[in-house]
Amino acid sequence: MTDARSYLFYQSRNPRPFLDRGEGIYLIDEAGKRYIDGSSGAMVSNIGHSNPRVLDKIKTQMDKATFGYRLHFRTHPSEDLAAKTVAMTPEGLDRVFFVSGGSEAVESAVKLARQYALTQGQGTRYKVISRFPSYHGSTFGALELTGYDPLRKPFVPMLAAMPKIAAPTTYLDRDNLTEEARGLKYAEMLRDKILEEGPDTVLAFLMEPIGGASTGALVAPDSYYARVREICDEFGVLLIYDEVMTGAGRTGKFLAAEHWDITPDIVAMSKGFGAGYAPLGAIVARAALVEPVLDAGGFLHGFTYAGNPLACSAGLAVLEELEEQGLIAHAAAMGDVLMRELRALMDNYPFIGDVRGKGLLTAFEFVANRETMEPLPKELDAHARLVELAYERGLIIYSRRTRGGTSGDHFLIAPPLIISEAQIGEMMSILRDALDAFAAEAGLPVVV
Ligand code: PMP
Repeated sequence: MTDARSYLFYQSRNPRPFLDRGEGIYLIDEAGKRYIDGSSGAMVSNIGHSNPRVLDKIKTQMDKATFGYRLHFRTHPSEDLAAKTVAMTPEGLDRVFFVSGGSEAVESAVKLARQYALTQGQGTRYKVISRFPSYHGSTFGALELTGYDPLRKPFVPMLAAMPKIAAPTTYLDRDNLTEEARGLKYAEMLRDKILEEGPDTVLAFLMEPIGGASTGALVAPDSYYARVREICDEFGVLLIYDEVMTGAGRTGKFLAAEHWDITPDIVAMSKGFGAGYAPLGAIVARAALVEPVLDAGGFLHGFTYAGNPLACSAGLAVLEELEEQGLIAHAAAMGDVLMRELRALMDNYPFIGDVRGKGLLTAFEFVANRETMEPLPKELDAHARLVELAYERGLIIYSRRTRGGTSGDHFLIAPPLIISEAQIGEMMSILRDALDAFAAEAGLPVVV
């Protein structure tokens, strides 16, 4: 239902019911209907809704000062959050710059990389290689680095063309390679691209360690991560991890990079970092990159709301909650439970062709044929239909119809990290109900 009195628009008009309140993993609308927040919004609400510690901390800060401009004052919430962030990220990442969202974080990472190169007398380096498919944000810089044509197309004449390589969508490859060899095959595409572009023109390589909206929780073979780091080192190319979605514990480690013992040069975070309590993001970088920039006159970049004490007090409470409640280890354990449950779906629903993910960033993908991995017909509008059928039944999930250039319906299941095993059971039973309803209306077989 569209409200004729609504003056508001987003990507389109908003027909959804009014939200009343949140409680843990649940959201409740004004009619009193309860929904399991099975995607933490857009993979944001990592510690669930209405967390008392976070609310208390925000209220305390609110009574003191909601804003103090950083050129006029230092604030304890921003200094403390920076220190806590450094303590929770791998050694070597020890300078923090705050922003208010993911696109801002990506832009900040790229601009820091460029200014660092200038301090090193490497002004010829300006190209940022990214991957296709990928998602890095909607602002012009982040959009150029995003590998997803439908979002880019209207703006292409206004974007600075940057080189792209294929993201390792290895589940679609029908070759006889081992997992390790496949990972290396994709990593070598980076080396080839750097050589093709001219190494002294390449500034950085930007990647989501685990694909988010772009590829649906797609994890590359282990060999990929280490080889990419090696290649970047070989050519003095900075490695930027976009952990906007994967950061802050979502995958069972504070940063996804830790799964492969990789230390990127710069990491972008947002989403779970503010966890829905404040618009907040950060880049974390090596001091050796930041200090020369500050010495050379400063970082020519900044946002008015960056590091404001209210948002930082929320972020600090979020990180304390992650740590003190052991939520990152809990996410890893619950991720195993969820992955088992999702894999079991494949026994009953032949149109599920792949299940993947790490920690509580998981996904499944629909196919017409598991052998060929051909997608379901577009007319079924599967990605939208299953989301609606689940929503009607009180479960929120997140979907996309994309494999970058080609199509494929994938669904992200990424509940708040506080979810219990019993609540995973509750979520799966609604999901199965929605899958049954989808199969019935689409005329697809279900194995019982
Ligand atoms: N990078 C990644 C990996 C993302 O998932 C997103 C958001 N989906 C962004 C960047 C952009 O973040 P924001 O929407 O907060 O600008």
